Amino acid sequence: RASAQKPEEVIQRYMEAVSAVPDEDCIICMDQLSNPSGYEAGPSEESSPSIGPSSVGKFVRCGHTLHMLCMLAMYNNGTKDGSLQCPSCKTIYGEKTGTQPKGKMEIYSIAQSLPGHPDCGTIQIIYSIPPGVQGPEHPNPGQLFTCRGFPRFCFLPDNDKGRKVLELLKVAWMRRLIFTVGTSSTTGEPDTVVWNGIHHKTEMMSNLSGHGYPDPNYLDNVLSELASQGVTEDCLKP
Ligand code: NAD
Ligand code: ZN
Ligand code: ZN
Repeated sequence: RASAQKPEEVIQRYMEAVSAVPDEDCIICMDQLSNPSGYEAGPSEESSPSIGPSSVGKFVRCGHTLHMLCMLAMYNNGTKDGSLQCPSCKTIYGEKTGTQPKGKMEIYSIAQSLPGHPDCGTIQIIYSIPPGVQGPEHPNPGQLFTCRGFPRFCFLPDNDKGRKVLELLKVAWMRRLIFTVGTSSTTGEPDTVVWNGIHHKTEMMSNLSGHGYPDPNYLDNVLSELASQGVTEDCLKP
């Protein structure tokens, strides 16, 4: 699986070494690209020539340049899932995955319409996550995490766009991107399961929390939040 790939190989898959070093600063270390990266090079092996302190790499799609060792250090600091995100423009290379704990995503159909969507029924998503022990990918490995307000009920209009959002949310769930373990910004509680930047509507017929309907921009907003995690319509193509 992706996580078994060597970090150097992940860097070399999505960045090509440039020989003519541009007169720019590295966005990670803020030093000039013509100066060496301050990060340590890993042990070199015959199978893959190791990346050196003066290696400068260019991302294959967005074209941003930075020290390859700086990018390697950033990768090693993260979830090491085989994906890279350009620190300059946030372009994602490969499949970004998150740290959502194990749980269940269920989908139901409700005949009643949502405020603002009178012409269709409603999709209900129910997320259930039980408490457990934090893994190495979480803030405090080995400690317990709590789960407040679960199961969490969420609602989408059952129209073409709502169903597309649902399919993308399923991809985001599989990639462990919907929730994470951290500190709740609402309650301040640490080591708890919290939303992870992909907004959901948790009220169906009321809007007491601000996370309800009507909200004419919601589906477009959530589509761009999904895209910023690398979840786009391309993920639905066979
Ligand atoms: P958080 O407070 O750390 O906030 C993370 C993100 O979730 C923010 O973007 C925020 O805007 C959004 N958010 C906050 N409250 C939300 C809500 N009620 N519905 C949808 N999005 C919301 O996130 P958190 O700690 O996961 O959730 C915030 C609080 O809401 C928690 O206290 C949780 O228990 C509660 N909650 C309860 C239910 C329920 O069905 N009882 C459902 C969802 C959230
Ligand atoms: Zn650098
Ligand atoms: Zn970029």
